[in-house]
Amino acid sequence: MIQAQVKLRLNVIQSSLLDGWLFMLTGVWNWAIRKIENDSKGGIYYTPKGFQNLLSDHGKKMGIPSHTVQGMLVMAYTAWKRCFKKIGGKPKLKGMRNKLNSIPFPDPIRSPEKNHVKLPGIGTVRFHKQDIPVGKIKCGRIVKRASGWYLCLFIDAERKAIERKTDGAIGIDPGFMDLLTTSDGEKIQHPKELHQSAKRLAQAQRGINRKLVARLHERIQNQRKDRNHKLSLRLVQENIVICFSKDNIKGIAKKFGKSVASSGHAQLRSMLEYKSRAGGTQYVQVASKNSTRICSTCGSLTGPTGLAGLSVRDWECSACGTHLDRDVNAAINTLNIGAGTAHEVRCHAA
Ligand SMILES: [Zn+2]
Repeated sequence: MIQAQVKLRLNVIQSSLLDGWLFMLTGVWNWAIRKIENDSKGGIYYTPKGFQNLLSDHGKKMGIPSHTVQGMLVMAYTAWKRCFKKIGGKPKLKGMRNKLNSIPFPDPIRSPEKNHVKLPGIGTVRFHKQDIPVGKIKCGRIVKRASGWYLCLFIDAERKAIERKTDGAIGIDPGFMDLLTTSDGEKIQHPKELHQSAKRLAQAQRGINRKLVARLHERIQNQRKDRNHKLSLRLVQENIVICFSKDNIKGIAKKFGKSVASSGHAQLRSMLEYKSRAGGTQYVQVASKNSTRICSTCGSLTGPTGLAGLSVRDWECSACGTHLDRDVNAAINTLNIGAGTAHEVRCHAA
């Protein structure tokens, strides 16, 4: 399944129609969220089919395709399911501050011709022309962003295989000073555009222009996504084995705030994972318990510990005397552990 996104060119009637839908669907969402919460307190639970049919006759009254209303109920249902399974947080009610911005189209959509596509309930809409992967479109979603309306398409097609350039093996340590450090000693920085946008965002947030803030947020997200796509593609092209250290990012982020949370490691990880599959690369996630403490040359536990030692950027191993860079050392350890050739931890008992 591939996702593709096109920017829509709606006329005034269409965009006000969709705004109206969003308004009414906000009510549907909030009703569904409360309904599941209250009924579960009374011991009433629903099957997905049973729940999505609760409002089966309301679509006509609202002037919205009934399957879109059902799609909304399914979204609310899944949100609660994720919460019950502890994958996601408690679903939030939507309103002025937390606006609903997507409209589901759960049915297959006929492939677009040239620059227009037919959608249930709206009719033909135009979009800015771009190449869309060939395949059957399983379902879609209209999303309203600060920069305009978009149509996301979920297409049943194979991902293009990624061509390999070199057969390396690499360990990666995500950091908070640099974005990533690799076992080859390469330090990948946050790109400059991101810094600049972040600065502009900070300026805008001090002002009163809400729209500008929303647009800048969107731009930063796009820049980050673009960077992660390029970086993960390059790493998959260059390596047969990728070992990624699953660090305690959350703990560090809590202590240092924005720079870690905003660097989008989670997104990068998931991109590396699926691109690895497409490129035949082996992707290993390593739990990095001692990756900063172990000396990658001799294997003794002589490095700096935990959060207290975060300020130590480089150190000398007291057992073998090697001078080590903290992050590069951690990346090498990650590769060693991931590749199954880890040193035994000698001073474990001590
Ligand atoms: Zn050593």
